Amino acid sequence: MRKIIGMVLMTSWLPFAAMAQPSKVKHVILIGCDGFGAYALPGAEMPQLKKLMQGGAWSLTARSVLPSSSAVNWASMLMGAGPTVHGYTEWNSAVPEIPSADTSRFGLFPSVFSLLKEQRPEAVSALIYSWQGINPLVEEAATTIRVPAKDNDDFCADTAAAIIRAQKPVLTFVHLDQPDGVGHKVGHRTPEYYQELKKVDARIGKIVKAVEDAGIAEESVIIITADHGGKGKGHGGKSLDEVQIPWVIYGRRVQKGQALKHPIITYDTAATIAWLLKLKTPESWRGLPVKEAFR
Ligand SMILES: [Zn+2]
Repeated sequence: MRKIIGMVLMTSWLPFAAMAQPSKVKHVILIGCDGFGAYALPGAEMPQLKKLMQGGAWSLTARSVLPSSSAVNWASMLMGAGPTVHGYTEWNSAVPEIPSADTSRFGLFPSVFSLLKEQRPEAVSALIYSWQGINPLVEEAATTIRVPAKDNDDFCADTAAAIIRAQKPVLTFVHLDQPDGVGHKVGHRTPEYYQELKKVDARIGKIVKAVEDAGIAEESVIIITADHGGKGKGHGGKSLDEVQIPWVIYGRRVQKGQALKHPIITYDTAATIAWLLKLKTPESWRGLPVKEAFR
């Protein structure tokens, strides 16, 4: 008994010091699926994503910022703060409608990409995006590799997989434009929407396989989330179907099969990535790292 107590103390004490940041996380891969409402995940045929949940940690009650629209939420996810701070407030904001409360030396509100570039200039980063509205949200000079995959999610996933295999970036963000397109055309909670989620899952699977093929799985953390959900053929409103987004995290030192209990807001994603990569965050950020997800 004493030995067991001793072991418990030892194991809880030693990693506690390291728990400040999980050591040896060398790569973070963020996959954002446009318009993927958390409501849809339990009933969706998504074996790849569900495998990551089983082996990782997740929340189905993570939240977007308001409005539950695209650019305002991609900005918040990457910039570690909400719209009144970074200033991007619309579905298609290309410039801040409210002057940004802070500016990086690259000219925009600090994003996780600009933090990485400033603090680790040699680190390779990759931005692969299906929706062109992502482009103005991340400074050109803050990314190493940048591929506009014009509205083609298969090309986007294949390109991301090839880049991960060949370049092993420290930070990769892949923006997939579905299931948002089907949500707008046919509607949320429709058979077509769930059908599209199967394809989204296959694309996620390709990217995860590339991380394994690159031989970096042991030192990587993968996050899968969305900008917003949807209701009927739209989004932007305040219903939980629109506001609640999936937040799945998998990889080095991540809890296994753990449902996360604390609230997660989309700007916590940038804060979590910065924390994992040991980047100092600016005072203007409001996100908190999701430490609960880690062992
Ligand atoms: Zn969107």
